[in-house]
Amino acid sequence: MARATISAQFRTAASKLTADLKHRGWISKSLRGYETSRRGNQAKYGDWNSAREAAGSIKYEAVNHLDRYLEEFARNFEANGGKIFWASTGEEARDYVVKLARDRGVRSVIKSKSMTAEEIHLNPALEEAGLPVVESDLGEYIVQLRGEAPYHLVFPAMHLDRHEISTLFEEKLGSAPTDDPERLTMIAREVMRDKYLTADMGITGANFAVAETGMISITENEGNARLTAALPKIHVALMGIEKIIPRLEDLALFLPMLATAGAGQPMTCYNSLYTGPRKAGEVDGPEEFHLVILDNKRTQLLADAEQRDALHCIRCGACLNVCPIFRNVGGHSYGTTYQGPIGSVITPHLRGLQNWKHLSAASSLCGACTETCPVKIDIHHHLLHNRRNAAQGKQTWYEKIGFRLFAWAARSPGLFRFGGRFAGLALKLRPRGPLDPLQAWTSTRGFPTPAPRSFNAYWRSRKGGP
Ligand code: SF4
Repeated sequence: MARATISAQFRTAASKLTADLKHRGWISKSLRGYETSRRGNQAKYGDWNSAREAAGSIKYEAVNHLDRYLEEFARNFEANGGKIFWASTGEEARDYVVKLARDRGVRSVIKSKSMTAEEIHLNPALEEAGLPVVESDLGEYIVQLRGEAPYHLVFPAMHLDRHEISTLFEEKLGSAPTDDPERLTMIAREVMRDKYLTADMGITGANFAVAETGMISITENEGNARLTAALPKIHVALMGIEKIIPRLEDLALFLPMLATAGAGQPMTCYNSLYTGPRKAGEVDGPEEFHLVILDNKRTQLLADAEQRDALHCIRCGACLNVCPIFRNVGGHSYGTTYQGPIGSVITPHLRGLQNWKHLSAASSLCGACTETCPVKIDIHHHLLHNRRNAAQGKQTWYEKIGFRLFAWAARSPGLFRFGGRFAGLALKLRPRGPLDPLQAWTSTRGFPTPAPRSFNAYWRSRKGGP
């Protein structure tokens, strides 16, 4: 898609949702309960900030020695009987899964939540190959029925209330209307139960990959990922290279931390570790276990020492929850797999800086994301780094002239003072309404009134002269 189109689509979608007060009210309401329970559970840590420091250091160690830890993980994973496919691109990852399904005569696929699968657009590729896929996570299933992408990293259907979900089930599944969330869950569960039993392939994501043991860890609240991984005869898991953690004991910190930061829970309901396919004498589990480890430009981000820590992300979604931009424009406006502040940092790396630089500009730089991130990623400064990198050597002719004029005036105190007075006067006297040259700004927000006296004038009066 052309650059102008991508940013124009973002602007259009963002303006529309920002003006939708019902939507904004619903998102704020949905996040209120999260905020309270998150605060309560954070308080249970002796020192939440020290826990963040520790988590950040573990991820630093893993990401800065990724070559070693990935090798160690792969050795152990394969020793347990699993098969690894290293995918450089999304296309390679998709092709591997589709070919595997075809070679094994797979007829249907059940899938639990995986942002990596979203990133590589796996579902459309499987469906194009004639393989129906059903999402087993309730939120994912709802957005799948609506033909939408997930709205949020953790809460894919958070933009919908129970009435909308009831109407959707009525239309797509022929169920009776109901306001009862439990009944709605049961309706979806009835559909899925049959899919678990008939699917030949189960696809999952992976929250962490433990180098020391070659295990992947999956965290969930519904128990659907367990069934997805255990019932079909083939289990395929997908993850980015950054999911590695060095030791099994590191999970003792990351599992509760992911639950608290992501969903305000002390611990997620189901935390499972997968070591490999079913072994001789075991009564359940898949016959084959494949793990697709995806690069897809992550190694380029790894090579960027300034922004490498963006790979520490554990996809908890906390930075989205506190971000005033996300809360106004909503998850779909971003047009990417990874929404919110961390999405605005990494998408330009994964999909091209010039095409996606507008996301880094769509930030108030308030720093709430950095403050909340459990692994202490310097998110809002990375937005500034992206802005700087996008602007370097890319100024328009009028920006170039403007900066030169400013540099020339700034070197002469007299000219600078004159420029300041002139700009203040021009701001006061400018036409208002549609002829206002600042209309792009003033149509949706107030413009600050210039101070009655410049800093220069104040300084002179204070010091009794220049
Ligand atoms: S950047 Fe931090 S807060 Fe945001 S999703 Fe990743 S780990 Fe969570």
